[in-house]
This record gives sequence, structure tokens and C-alpha cells, in this order.
Amino acid sequence: ERTTETYEPIEIAELASDEDLIWNISLQARIDSALSNGEIYLIYQPKILVQSGELVGVEALVRWRDPVKGLIPPDHFIRQCENAGRMTHLTRHVLEEACLAGNAFEDRGLKLPIAVNISATLVHERDIVRMVREVLDETGFDPLRLTLEITETYRISNFEAAHDVLSELAALGPKISMDDFGVGAASLEALQRLPFSELKIDRMFTSAMNTDAKAAGIVRHVLRLGKELRIIVVAEGVEDGSTLTLLRDSGCLVAQGFAISRPISFDEILKFQRFSIPEELRKMV
Ligand code: C2E
Ligand code: MG
Ligand code: MG
Ligand code: MG
Repeated sequence: ERTTETYEPIEIAELASDEDLIWNISLQARIDSALSNGEIYLIYQPKILVQSGELVGVEALVRWRDPVKGLIPPDHFIRQCENAGRMTHLTRHVLEEACLAGNAFEDRGLKLPIAVNISATLVHERDIVRMVREVLDETGFDPLRLTLEITETYRISNFEAAHDVLSELAALGPKISMDDFGVGAASLEALQRLPFSELKIDRMFTSAMNTDAKAAGIVRHVLRLGKELRIIVVAEGVEDGSTLTLLRDSGCLVAQGFAISRPISFDEILKFQRFSIPEELRKMV
């Protein structure tokens, strides 16, 4: 029997060190101003068709450039943002910016699907449904071109609630994607119980494919699983040409990773083409 309790934020007192504590408290105080004064912004990582190298979408990734600390990666502030109770606020900001970027890409002749990351903890509550509906209404972005990548799915504690919320989100138009597939305990259960239409193989497996036969076997197995369930499989973390070749030969359709492109700015996406891919890779796709 599954528990119906929702995710309990970590108490600040449970955090590891004094430094964490101070950082966490200062973050709580600064997150809102950082959001309103433009310190927090998005960059975009291309997703390509493995067969042709064609750009088929971008994943929006959040960045925080603090005037004192410099660039803070999301891994260093997402969790603290949740603890500070500001995750909904951050997510709304990210969604809005991503949808507006989507419109701006279209104005420049690039009708591009955009993926936004959504923390699993948010899918326990209906607030997220209203938020996504409002942002889609306000921006006018085509819901069918939006993908919601649910990160850290293993943190979903209530599948019934999450199922309802994800179904309502899907009914608005967006694709629902399971991020970082394969990492964490509840991956297969989540895939069975929740309405995902895409899954992203975690880079833990992809990046090890050409050195670790087990990793390669797992990736091929996940690709077959995707086919069986009629779910799009995206390989993330492609770091070299030989991995892309292995993926292509395993029937993988969509890939993302540093070898194809690092996350880049809006303007750089406009210039991104098949020919942006390194020579070495272009011969292979
Ligand atoms: P993710 O959604 O799995 O995103 C992929 C991460 O892997 C990104 O890190 C990206 O820069 C990195 N990456 C892409 N290709 C490669 C590669 O070939 N090799 C390696 N080593 N890394 C690669 P980033 O931008 O630091 O984001 C880290 C995580 O933070 C994301 O993982 C996602 O879970 C979370 N995140 C990012 N933006 C948001 C956001 O707007 N909202 C939420 N809730 N989470 C976000
Ligand atoms: Mg993601
Ligand atoms: Mg991922
Ligand atoms: Mg990941």
C-alpha cells in the first residue's frame, strides 16, 4: 500500500555543514530578487535526429549568474530553492521564459519544440496544472511543442496523485518526459504507472557505452523497451562520435550531448545547423 503523504522538504537543520546552512539561508533571501533582476536565465541544448543531424528541439536549462559567486550550476541551487519553498516560483519563471523563447524562435523562422525541466516534487500538486495552463495562455506558445521533463522521478512518493496531475498536464498538450531514466529506485514502476510519452536515458549509461559493455547493453535494452511501450527514447550525455555511432546502430532516433553541442544561448541556437556538429561526427550521422 502506497503512502499518500507528499514530499517533506529537508529541514535546514539537517543540511551537512555550516557553509550549506549559510548558503541556504542567503539563497532564500536572494532567490526572488535574483529572479526579478535577470540573474536567473535560460540556455538551450540542441536535440538532434541521430540519422540526419537535424535539430529537432532544445532543452531549456536554468542558469544563475550571481554578481558575487559567479555562475552557479542548477545542481547547486535547485534543491535549496525547493527547501526555501520557492520552486513553484522558479518553475513559473523558467516556463514563461522558455515559452517566450519558443515564440521568438518561431518569429525567426525556427518552429522548435522546447523542453523544460520540472522537479518531481511539483507533480504531487495540482498547482502545476494551473501554472502550465496560465503560462500557455499568457504566452500563446503552441502546447504541442512543449515537453515537460520530469526530473528525479524516484522522488515521487504518491503515484495516484502524480498520475492525475501528469494526465491533466498531458491533456493540455505537452509531452511528458521521464528524465534521467535508469537512475534511482522507482524507474520502471514510474514508467508503468505514469503517462510518459518520452524517456531520456541517463547519461550515466550513454557516456559509458563505448567503454562498458554492460552500459551499452542497458542502453540497447532501454531502446527496445521504448519501442515496446511506443515511447520516444532520447539519449542524453553523448560525449563523442563513437557513442553516436553506437546509438545510431542501436536504433536510437534522438540524441543530446556535449559532442553534438553544449547548452548555448538563444542566438547561438538560431545559428545552429547540421554543420554546427563537429566534422568527425558529421561523417557518421
Ligand atoms: P538534466 O535535465 O538531466 O539536464 C542535462 C544536464 O546534463 C545539464 O546540466 C547539461 O548541461 C548536462 N549535459 C548535457 N550533455 C552532457 C554531456 O554530454 N556530458 C555531460 N557530462 N553533461 C551533459 P545542467 O544544466 O547543469 O543541469 C543539471 C540538472 O539540473 C538537470 O539535469 C536538471 O535535472 C536540473 N535543471 C536544470 N534546469 C532546470 C530547471 O529549469 N528546473 C528544474 N527543476 N531543474 C533543472
Ligand atoms: Mg532534463
Ligand atoms: Mg536528463
Ligand atoms: Mg541528467
